[in-house]
Amino acid sequence: MAEQQTITFDFKNTYSGLPEHFFAKVSPTPVAAPSLIKLNVELSQELGLDPQSLASMEGVEVLAGNRVALGSEPLAAAYAGHQFGHFVPQLGDGRANLLGEVVDVSGRRFDIQLKGAGRTPFSRGGDGRAALGPVLREYILSECMAALGVPTTRALAVVATGETVLRERPLPGAVFTRVAASHLRVGTFQYFAARGDVEAVRTLATYTIERHYPEAAHAHKSYLALLEGVIARQARLVAQWMLLGFIHGVMNTDNTSISGETIDYGPCAFLEAYDPEQVFSSIDQQGRYAYNNQPHAMHWNLVRFAETLLPLIAEEEGSEAAGSDSAKEALESFIPQFEAARREGLLCKIGVVTEREGDVDLAEDLLQRMAKSDADFTLTFRRLCDAAEFTDEDERFTALFVNPSAFHSWAAVWRTRLLLEPASVKERAAMMRRVNPAFIPRNHLVQEAIDAAYRGDFRPFEDLLSVVLRPYEDSAGHEHYESPARPEQRVLQTFCGT
Ligand code: AMP
Ligand code: MG
Repeated sequence: MAEQQTITFDFKNTYSGLPEHFFAKVSPTPVAAPSLIKLNVELSQELGLDPQSLASMEGVEVLAGNRVALGSEPLAAAYAGHQFGHFVPQLGDGRANLLGEVVDVSGRRFDIQLKGAGRTPFSRGGDGRAALGPVLREYILSECMAALGVPTTRALAVVATGETVLRERPLPGAVFTRVAASHLRVGTFQYFAARGDVEAVRTLATYTIERHYPEAAHAHKSYLALLEGVIARQARLVAQWMLLGFIHGVMNTDNTSISGETIDYGPCAFLEAYDPEQVFSSIDQQGRYAYNNQPHAMHWNLVRFAETLLPLIAEEEGSEAAGSDSAKEALESFIPQFEAARREGLLCKIGVVTEREGDVDLAEDLLQRMAKSDADFTLTFRRLCDAAEFTDEDERFTALFVNPSAFHSWAAVWRTRLLLEPASVKERAAMMRRVNPAFIPRNHLVQEAIDAAYRGDFRPFEDLLSVVLRPYEDSAGHEHYESPARPEQRVLQTFCGT
């Protein structure tokens, strides 16, 4: 049993106040020799947590799961989920432990969760632990997504456990502290719906509305408004992923958050050479979660979410048929909402703010040329910002295309179109640089940082992090971070690493 301690997190625990069958009350399992590898000082300050106290011996023990902070009511949440299309009625936090919730300076509530905190009643065959590599990966990727302006869970800390975990080979263990608007998932709703427990679904939906969609509480039809709210947030989220070349990799319903945040960074990765069919995850054999399938995968997940709410929506609508019609209508709005958000973002990426006929075709035409020319997704759009400002920058741009003439003919049409835009050349380039990052955590760089960390050298991790935390700022001397992988550096597959 972990020791109680006095550092106050000022935990407020609404989730542990839900009915007993929503979770298992379980404390983290202490580790042999906790040591702090990384503390996110800025995030801890935003959350109103004292970084010095978190970095103290007692603080690190809390972040390792060796001490239970005062006010914490640790638990492992129950959830189910469709994994690659197959329903698993019980998944749950098999290696995660919700310590409690904190309310930040602006009144927003966040879960503080340890990942890799030991076995729980939901562990099935697993060891409840996490290896250092995947933890560092989640740290880099999730913090970069936040810096890019994408809704996401955040990384508060990484603590080495001093223990070894057995994966394909023995690896050093780590505990990751994750911060999320909540850990409610589509799979949380499915857990109760699959058991025919409509009252639990109602309790969960009411809790969710209060926590994430307070406007739905005042709506005429609250549960339908909840469904519509989740659909709207996920449509924007997936559009943002697509506009940045992000591939989640495991869009199972248990990894689809109700708050609309990117959650569960496993085998996720950013595109390099633009290929709409790209899949990195070793476990995604069928390409179910390929880059260009992501909106469809999310739609499928949202249909599963809607199914769980059907009895409640039917009540609101007065009949099953009317409930199912309303839910269908809401679901049918997902792809159009996604497309509108993507279209708007795509036009911004090429410097167009006032949409005219033909603009979307122009942008799609560039993407097609990029695909044929193996052009790097991130760099192409970043160089386009320069090309929008200086015509003599075209050489740097065309160098990204296997067939440079593919760009010249496109750019002639693009430049003529830009003449019709109201913004000045400088304003336009600045706007484009705010949506087209220079830096993303390239797969080979993440891998390099992890390999070095396994040798005890955390410098590459820190260096990469400092660059990707300012993704939209040009900085001299950082070509190493900006350049795509050379053929021999290319990471062709990513792994869950659980
Ligand atoms: P994930 O693939 O990380 O989304 O996890 C899917 C399910 O497997 C969840 O229920 C996790 O809690 C569980 N899980 C993943 N890794 C472990 C582990 N090392 N020990 C126990 N459960 C795990
Ligand atoms: Mg998961």
